[in-house]
Amino acid sequence: MSDCIFCKIAEKEIPSKLVYEDDDILCFHDLEPQAPVHVLIIPKKHIGSLDEAGADDIAVLGALLIKVKAIAASLGLENGYRLVNNCGEDGMQTVKHLHFHLLGKRKMLWPPG
Ligand code: 5GP
Ligand code: ZN
Repeated sequence: MSDCIFCKIAEKEIPSKLVYEDDDILCFHDLEPQAPVHVLIIPKKHIGSLDEAGADDIAVLGALLIKVKAIAASLGLENGYRLVNNCGEDGMQTVKHLHFHLLGKRKMLWPPG
């Protein structure tokens, strides 16, 4: 997707503060952190949202979720963390490339706003 900002980050056309990368996924610091630790984890493949993920994406998304604990550990989130996906208009998704927010180093609130 030529006009997708997270595809451009995955292609290194736009710089980011990288945390983790492998063949299929990328993790980088959010530009506007909402917690002392706030990173985004994305599949490198363009998937518009969780609603647009399909059977072809099971392996990559499974690997992404399993990788979360290692990324969290590397960021010192031994006391826990929150993993968030905003999907679609009511979910307040602003970047239309599937991503998970990993937030930590503060007590989270519930219910979320
Ligand atoms: P959403 O609202 O779609 O769930 O989350 C999008 C997130 O992407 C926001 O937290 C926003 O701060 C972050 N973001 C938007 N543009 C950029 C960017 O160019 N670089 C980085 N690192 N984060 C971005
Ligand atoms: Zn994209």
